[in-house]
Amino acid sequence: MLAASLVVLLVVLATLQYRWLGQVSAAERERMQATLSAGAARFAQDFDRELGRVYFNLKLDASAWRARDADAYAARFDQWRANAPHPRLVGDVYVVDAGDVGAEPQLTRFDPATRKFVDAAWPAAFGALRRRFASAREQHASHASPAERDMVGAGLYAPQPNVDQEIPAVIIPIVPDEITHAEGMGRPWQPPALSDENKLVLTNYSPLSTYVLVTLDLDYIKGELWPALARRYFSSGDQLDYRVAVVDRSDPRKTLYQSAPDTPEVAAASSSAGDARADIFQIRFDEMDAFLPSFVSRRVREVQDVAGASSSPESRGKKLSVRVLESRTSEVAMRRVMSTETRPGGLQLVVTHVAGSLDAAVGQARRRSLLVSFGILLLLAGSVALIFVSTHRAQRLARRQVEFVAGVTHELRTPLAVICSAGENLADGVIDDRRQVRRYGEVIHSEGRRLAEMVEQVLEFAGAQSGHRREFKLAPVAVESLIDSALASCRAGAQGGDSGFEVERDVPVGLPPVMADASALGRSLQNLISNALKYGGESRWVKLSARAVGGAEREVRIKVEDRGAGIAPVDLPHIFEPFYRGREVVAAQIHGNGLGLSLVKQIVEAHGGRVSVESERGRGSAFTMHLPAASNGATVNGNGAHAVRGGDV
Ligand code: ADP
Repeated sequence: MLAASLVVLLVVLATLQYRWLGQVSAAERERMQATLSAGAARFAQDFDRELGRVYFNLKLDASAWRARDADAYAARFDQWRANAPHPRLVGDVYVVDAGDVGAEPQLTRFDPATRKFVDAAWPAAFGALRRRFASAREQHASHASPAERDMVGAGLYAPQPNVDQEIPAVIIPIVPDEITHAEGMGRPWQPPALSDENKLVLTNYSPLSTYVLVTLDLDYIKGELWPALARRYFSSGDQLDYRVAVVDRSDPRKTLYQSAPDTPEVAAASSSAGDARADIFQIRFDEMDAFLPSFVSRRVREVQDVAGASSSPESRGKKLSVRVLESRTSEVAMRRVMSTETRPGGLQLVVTHVAGSLDAAVGQARRRSLLVSFGILLLLAGSVALIFVSTHRAQRLARRQVEFVAGVTHELRTPLAVICSAGENLADGVIDDRRQVRRYGEVIHSEGRRLAEMVEQVLEFAGAQSGHRREFKLAPVAVESLIDSALASCRAGAQGGDSGFEVERDVPVGLPPVMADASALGRSLQNLISNALKYGGESRWVKLSARAVGGAEREVRIKVEDRGAGIAPVDLPHIFEPFYRGREVVAAQIHGNGLGLSLVKQIVEAHGGRVSVESERGRGSAFTMHLPAASNGATVNGNGAHAVRGGDV
């Protein structure tokens, strides 16, 4: 029941773990998406802020341009260079004069070295922009009345948006200041009227025809600005977690920048929209409050309030893009109201997780967590199973020990009873015949020997089980003498009641000695021989053979064979376990305690060897001791006492 409830508990835990990990992953996905979207937005904002800085700091006053007064502009340019966080962003500064309808737009370059405006030819890269200027101007001129032209506003005439990503460049209109002078001076500021589309209609607007064109250094942007921003927003440690790309908005396959070459995962996922996107490369007028003096931004709020109150219920809430910009084009500060709607630029930032997508990344993390937690649960299950197995083993061992005590007591009882009754008979003087007395003596001797053997085995087993390893005194021992002395001991034991036995001995001369404790190994061999006799049935035949096998790492095999009944296959795997006795053997009431083979195994293994057994039912068994041969330097003298040369042993 305990096991079953543990299993149920494990299953419940695993289910809960699986569910919760699912929920955690979903939450993690949301969190990552939010962080990523915010990161992408801030990446774009940070970059666009630099464009805004250029837009507001490198403008040219109309009066200065008309007088071709480059000194004032040079001073402004120097100041920009000294204060801007990224002065290397700016390449060249040009002035585009769109002129009258039909005339060719003129290009002038500002040369910071000579601090002069110099005429310039149109670079090839400016072709598209030049056409945009021309068509915007023509469209504007096609409107009949000046009022209508004013209604159209700057949007058409000035190239919109105020950036060009092909060159790339920022386009800054030059405000004709006499108009703003005339209309803005001395009059209280009026909130502007609203058009149908909730856009601001410019009341004091006049079309512009001259622009400052500031080219940007694309290499600097791609090599330093964007990588730095990518590191700031999309990295953990020194690795980018996301692939950052800047692509053309109208054609996402046109990639302008990529933080790293496409991995197969990202390439596979690139048909999808990426994990987060943000418009980039635009002048964000709605974020330019920082550039405005405080009284102007206050006015911005006024305008928005008025606009919000006067708009129709349907249009209320629609976002109005209204900004008041302070234009200091002359000594007198002038107010100018402009429609400065933020128009998305031509580029888009696409951020994709390096794993292919956020979903893939979260899925990966989830699989890893699942693996670890299920691993831990499995480990738990394994430990529980192990505890059960070892408890079961301990129980079995305890049962065997009880059986052993019963068995040993039983075994002790028989010889003791024989010895007692024989002794009693002798003492009572019932036996006076010399031959009888001699037979009684032999019986008492052999039963006593059996008792002593049994006690010896039990003691040896108890010693081996007590925990501390027995120290064997290893020395080179000749295999022949080992076999002969074991045989002699067995014969001595068998003399009494038993009628002796037949031995086939096959031990070639010149076998290498083995490293052994002669008495311990001799006892083991004796054990195998006496088992062969005990279980050998009527034949009373034993074969002892020895062989040396192998090359450099030689081993000596000593084999003890009998022609007994063999060992049942069910018993075969267990016969080396302590207290284990074959079922048939127990049924046939052959005496024994099940310790012999376990002791043989222990001793042989302590010698660095092993014991193997082959057995065929009805034909007999063969036990083999595999022992490592002693190294070449060792020699043995004839009687089994050993001499060791040098420090070999
Ligand atoms: P014991 O002989 O006291 O029973 P052992 O550890 O020596 O204990 O032997 C364990 C068991 O292995 C025996 O009970 C017997 O079933 C089996 N066995 C050992 N040697 C032989 C053999 N030569 N022939 C058949 N069975 C054997």
